[in-house]
Amino acid sequence: MKIKTVNLQLTTHFNLKEFVIHNEQYFLDLPEANQKVIVSEALEQAKKLEAFRIAIGNKPLFILSGLRSPEYNKSVGGAPDSFHMFMKATDVTYQGVKDVWLHDFTPAQTLFSGVIYYPKQLFFHLDRGNRRFWSRDGGFSAI
Ligand SMILES: [Zn+2]
Repeated sequence: MKIKTVNLQLTTHFNLKEFVIHNEQYFLDLPEANQKVIVSEALEQAKKLEAFRIAIGNKPLFILSGLRSPEYNKSVGGAPDSFHMFMKATDVTYQGVKDVWLHDFTPAQTLFSGVIYYPKQLFFHLDRGNRRFWSRDGGFSAI
């Protein structure tokens, strides 16, 4: 059965609609098999975000970007092979990230294989792609 609504609670704190922000219609128009892959990836991402949320002191996480259609990814200047297009990446921010991001980088690295902190825009890119850690905009780089 094709999924006809993005309102699907994945974990205690995360709903599918948060992961398809900006690309709801794209998701709804996908073939059933592709939708299932996206939901399964979003669930994996949500489980790790729940763990990250606990690790940083149970602060609510705000998802800025999750699934991206290839067109949307291009329009926001995403990498051509961005993990966002496969729902293996989420950009998140939370209260006080500016002051605690370096401290929180450690739990992020234990949960996600790709961690990028954007010091100007104040958010973490967290993905389950190949292992690499760095910070955009001349900020921080590790491993
Ligand atoms: Zn990202």
